Amino acid sequence: MRAFRLTAQHRTEMVTVPTPEPGPGEVLIKVGAAGACHSDLHMIDAPAGAFPAPMTLGHENAGWIEAVGPGVSGWRKDEAVAIYGIMGCGRCSACLQGRENACRVIPAGGIGISRDGGMAEYVSVPASRLIAIGDLDVAQAAPLTDAGLTPYHAIQVARPALLPGATCVVIGVGGLGHMAIQILAATTAARIVAVDVRQQALDLAGQIGAHEAIAADEDAARKIRELVGPPPRGADAVLDFVCAAPTLALAASVVSTGGWLVLIGLAGGNLSITPGVGSTGIPFETRTVIPFWGTRAELGEVIALARSGRISARVERFPLTGAQAAYEKLRAGELSGRAVVLPAAA
Ligand SMILES: [Zn+2]
Ligand SMILES: [Zn+2]
Repeated sequence: MRAFRLTAQHRTEMVTVPTPEPGPGEVLIKVGAAGACHSDLHMIDAPAGAFPAPMTLGHENAGWIEAVGPGVSGWRKDEAVAIYGIMGCGRCSACLQGRENACRVIPAGGIGISRDGGMAEYVSVPASRLIAIGDLDVAQAAPLTDAGLTPYHAIQVARPALLPGATCVVIGVGGLGHMAIQILAATTAARIVAVDVRQQALDLAGQIGAHEAIAADEDAARKIRELVGPPPRGADAVLDFVCAAPTLALAASVVSTGGWLVLIGLAGGNLSITPGVGSTGIPFETRTVIPFWGTRAELGEVIALARSGRISARVERFPLTGAQAAYEKLRAGELSGRAVVLPAAA
């Protein structure tokens, strides 16, 4: 079969490899769709040895059951499934609570991260990673497993702040941010304020549920303050899907006393925290959290939201042979939704 693999630092290749055999407890999936994620770019750029290589990329996957391995029951051939990408240890206190995204033993392990992923015609995964998707399109389901799940989990974490009448600022309307806006609109009565540098992203934000859309320029903090008022008021929650230095500074400057700073992006910015009241300090009673991906139960809820028609991922479709092109567009910031590779498409 063909597989798009990380082969060395800064190097990805389309290669031909043997089709995997499902081992005990595993299921072989015919991949219908695999999403391309910013995290993959971090993996491609990471120092040699940080991730296994060669390894097939792709941690946002959906498809159909092709074969089940020894000891697997309850799944039938051709059933449509999404794949929960995280592989926790299953034994630590966090995993026992269902929080494999906070595993104390395996940091950020997963399908397409620490073992072969779904940018291939087939992928073998533990049966415990599967969630049935019914008649949901696989090209929709694949991005939900990360681009949908990660913002859903972030919103779950900050949900105590997202009461009716609250204001939630969403910084970055990309693959994750455009899902966050829809999830907020579907599950809260908060006022949603979208922030992005691209006009096209702001236009999209307005179409999918944002009440305000603000350009991420030097005037952004003032415009948000016009909406939420001066300190100690502010945004009840700020979800930063970028986390570059300027977006972190913006987030800290508009969050309310007692608000939530929810930092999801991986752009490498630094947030300095100075307890106490001051022009650069984060207000009293502010909670700062760094959520990671989400739980299996939350993925089930995201799939349910999508099946009810309340959220949908904007996707740009590529054939498996276009995987490299998909990552290049992602790196260049030229995608308006999620790039999804479709290995089973003709
Ligand atoms: Zn990802
Ligand atoms: Zn664990």
